[in-house]
Amino acid sequence: MDHFDYRDGAMHVEQVPLDTIADAVGTPVYVYSTATLTRHVTVFRDALGQIDNPLIAFAVKANPNAAVLATLAKLGLGADVVSGGELLRAVAAGIPANRIVFSGVGKTQDEMRLALDHGIFQFNLESEPEAEMLSAVALSMGKRAPVAYRINPDVDAGTHAKISTGKSENKFGIPYDRAIASYAAARDLPGLDVQGVAVHIGSQLTDLAPLEAAFVKVGVLVKALRAQGHDIRTADLGGGLGVPYDPAEPIPPSPAAYGAMVTRVTQGWNLRLLFEPGRVIVGNAGALLSRVIRVKQGASQPFVIVDAAMNDLLRPSLYDAWHDIRAVKPSGTRAAANVVGPVCETGDTFAMGRDLDVVQAGDLVAFMTAGAYGATMANTYNSRALTPEVLVSGNQWAVVRPRLPLETLIAGDSVPDWVNS
Ligand SMILES: *Cc1c(COP(=O)(O)O)cnc(C)c1O
Repeated sequence: MDHFDYRDGAMHVEQVPLDTIADAVGTPVYVYSTATLTRHVTVFRDALGQIDNPLIAFAVKANPNAAVLATLAKLGLGADVVSGGELLRAVAAGIPANRIVFSGVGKTQDEMRLALDHGIFQFNLESEPEAEMLSAVALSMGKRAPVAYRINPDVDAGTHAKISTGKSENKFGIPYDRAIASYAAARDLPGLDVQGVAVHIGSQLTDLAPLEAAFVKVGVLVKALRAQGHDIRTADLGGGLGVPYDPAEPIPPSPAAYGAMVTRVTQGWNLRLLFEPGRVIVGNAGALLSRVIRVKQGASQPFVIVDAAMNDLLRPSLYDAWHDIRAVKPSGTRAAANVVGPVCETGDTFAMGRDLDVVQAGDLVAFMTAGAYGATMANTYNSRALTPEVLVSGNQWAVVRPRLPLETLIAGDSVPDWVNS
């Protein structure tokens, strides 16, 4: 459920008409709904209502905007970060360090030092060399780093190959079969305090079975590690729950169904559970608002050329992702069209042969469910300005990332004297 609704023939976000935002800020622009963010946090937290003191660490990479993070911080979420930059964003947004988890295969010494300085809750380690490096860094600072190993359970998440992370051939985690040996080695590293086990098998999961299979393996490992004398106090079950994008597809499992499965599988584990939801919190809290530049005749269907492009919303081009595309003021007549951006790549295609409201030059369209992995992946390819962002709450709205002038983008480069001599 979201708060993007038609009223008097025009799409609103909460109480604000989208055309008001488009007229004031220009397009393309991301628009987020505070009420939708709040609702998703509540739904996810309620789904874990049977679990004692879970740590819900929002996966910052899904949407790192400062205003979004501050909204989530106010609602009590922690953060799952994958870089020093994300860590600084989370802290700046008011997320306490004791609710921050650091994931990722390539943490550098500088990032480790930064996270140790802040005193984060847990490092999720992904290899033995990383464990050795972190131990050395922590010792050099006179600290011990709280760690979990992310295990690779070798389960097929059944999602797009580029967002599947839990197969043995993926770069993530330590092999399940080596876990006992890796934990034994970690125990001997004096800069580490081994406290947990972590898993994350992929994103946009539409079936609970692979998640359950991975969690069962975590439970087996926790028992085995305790039998070896490890004091396992946390289990991080990752993120990955899918959201509905295409109304023609089956609806992904609800947070409630996920929570019930987790509650059942983790019964008696007797430790603190961590969760790292990203998409399910922010996905349908955002839309990318765009204006039609012109409509061009195609071989069979018209090309609707919009002012948003793959640099603003990469998912269709990167993952063949499907976004619902709606006219902000529907004409009432529908026809098939191809929706494309202005970037000079055939991959800059949002939809082919899509049944849409007929639109004309100057009309507004909204790409729905664009709050996760949208603005965060935006770039300036084709020397296009980075996409601005707006946050709405009730009848208020604010620009939370401005559109920088093209001059600023260009001024970032410099030309050494010898080029022109
Ligand atoms: C990306 C990521 C998440 C969030 O995944 P979603 O599908 O957005 O819930 C959680 N944990 C880790 C380690 C990740 O890399």
